[in-house]
Amino acid sequence: MVMSAQPIDTLSRSILTGLSCRCPRCRRGKLFRGFLTLRPRCEACGLDYGFADSGDGPAVFIMFLAGFIVVGAALITEVLYQPPFWVHAALWLPLILIVTLGPLRPMKGLMIALQYHHKAAEGRFR
Ligand SMILES: [Zn+2]
Repeated sequence: MVMSAQPIDTLSRSILTGLSCRCPRCRRGKLFRGFLTLRPRCEACGLDYGFADSGDGPAVFIMFLAGFIVVGAALITEVLYQPPFWVHAALWLPLILIVTLGPLRPMKGLMIALQYHHKAAEGRFR
């Protein structure tokens, strides 16, 4: 098996790197300092993360989608089982936190990785 050199990562590899919240160039440094706070640059290779446009678009999208899913699930449960109110609260409040906060970091990492991928493909970083 021959390993060929790849000057620019494949898109699928960039996506995986982003989802794991790693530096899009070296894949060793971490992207985040806090829960959603970006480090100024990569601690491993020194890549400046300033190129990343860290808007809240993905967050709004995730919350809208998650809210839709949870409300839909709550309605279905209500129609099928008519549980007491505390069952709804015990089920859906933790679920809302999980489905909204859970994907935020990988989604933000993914967005940054895609921006890096796009710019690297244009030759601005290499
Ligand atoms: Zn790096």
